[in-house]
Amino acid sequence: MKRFWTAALAAAFFVCSAAMVLHPAAAAPARSGNAFLAAGEETTGPRIIDRFVAQSPQRERLIRAYTRKHYGREIQTIAPRAVVVHWTASDTADGVYRYFYPEARTSADGEELNVCSQFLVDKDGTIYRLCPETQLARHAIGYNWCAIGIENVGGKDGRDDLTDAQAAADTALILYLKGKYPDLRYVWGHYQQIEARKTGLYRELVPGYFSRKVDPGLRFMKRLQDNLEGAGLCFPAMGSGKD
Ligand SMILES: [Zn+2]
Repeated sequence: MKRFWTAALAAAFFVCSAAMVLHPAAAAPARSGNAFLAAGEETTGPRIIDRFVAQSPQRERLIRAYTRKHYGREIQTIAPRAVVVHWTASDTADGVYRYFYPEARTSADGEELNVCSQFLVDKDGTIYRLCPETQLARHAIGYNWCAIGIENVGGKDGRDDLTDAQAAADTALILYLKGKYPDLRYVWGHYQQIEARKTGLYRELVPGYFSRKVDPGLRFMKRLQDNLEGAGLCFPAMGSGKD
């Protein structure tokens, strides 16, 4: 299938593929993990296990405060425009879940709302949904107002140890999200956060609020881009994303 350079704002910085009818088996050929779409099951989507972090009035209050500070308005629910892919820099899903669970966490950057992503993918491809898909989660500076986060267990000490099962699960999950949210157009790795500004989606009111990232690495993002060829999604031009 042929790629083309999008003629939109992101021209020359993002590579987009036309939306075609995509056979799920072709999209995620690794055939491992339990989240994988089997042939002929296009409408069922991947298996997703709900394992929510603490949901409470406190979380709602902290989300409102975060969005007032960083976006100038209160946002609880996002209309997804992008997916940001991460690794957790740790090696167990349980550990990540426990870290994300509390509403609040005092951090060096002075934020009170704890970090979290909407999804967590374990090494065997198991997909956990950590909060309602459109609940704002703090995972990508500048994009939390419009981006769904997918965390992949791995990347401890900066080592790329993400698995075939995770690539298959992320692929199936992104296809599911793309089918559900028509405005979802972009996918990038967290390390490509500067390049992603070319989408026009970056919003941040606090000067200097930035954190350098390397996750989840070029190899994994290249794999996702290949798997999602023909899905009507745009990826930063590979080899870019230097920050
Ligand atoms: Zn990240």
